[in-house]
Amino acid sequence: MRIDIISALPDLLKTPFQTSILARAINKKIVQIHVHDLRKYSKNKKQQIDDYSYGGGGGMVLMIEPIAKCIETLKKERTYQMVIFMTPDGDKLSQKISNQLSQLKNIIILCGRYEGVDQRVRDLFIDKEISIGDYVLTGGELPAMVLCDSIIRLIPGVMSNSSCALSDSFQDKLLSPPIYTRPASYKNNKVPNILLSGNEKKISEWKEKEAIKRTQQKRPNLLNDE
Ligand code: SAM
Repeated sequence: MRIDIISALPDLLKTPFQTSILARAINKKIVQIHVHDLRKYSKNKKQQIDDYSYGGGGGMVLMIEPIAKCIETLKKERTYQMVIFMTPDGDKLSQKISNQLSQLKNIIILCGRYEGVDQRVRDLFIDKEISIGDYVLTGGELPAMVLCDSIIRLIPGVMSNSSCALSDSFQDKLLSPPIYTRPASYKNNKVPNILLSGNEKKISEWKEKEAIKRTQQKRPNLLNDE
């Protein structure tokens, strides 16, 4: 999979891809990440990418021309299945959306800044708008990272044990069951005996029962979701 990220602050996107599972996915050539500095697509010497909002209002707005130039340049080089804009008023990110996106070959993610982007960018270039939650951050870089992380870990071959991603919370409308590691007893707080039994069938039944119990307690809405 190839992910092109367009950002006014590309440095913010460097380190998260340099460690752990994301770095491994890149090293294994399962994923390619290309970060594009929006300022390089500005038409003037000052590398201006934002301007005042028509009709007044507080902040600056990302202009259409640099964004259009960047997206059009990329689209000339290959076909993209989706151009995504990170925005608080987009569809709330879910495991379902991440699963769907993880199956695409090439996607573009546009990060907003300031007050956001000129509406015409959204009208002309964006296929999908995604929010990471009902709160407002200063820019789309962290949301883009959240989206990339959630997608990349689902791509076959990225996790050393791919069943890990499949047993995560939300994959099957259930939260994960409780998990334990050594020691088997900590200050007399013991790991449930069944997990030490070696009986795979019983362990799997226990995990499912606990996952249902936890979901009923913490997120009962998941059990009723379509
Ligand atoms: N004026 C915008 C509004 O009220 O919807 C908020 C702009 S925000 C300060 C700047 C940029 O950060 C947005 O264009 C978007 O790219 C990103 N952003 C902020 N919060 C986000 C969220 N919850 N999900 C996705 N992107 C977000």
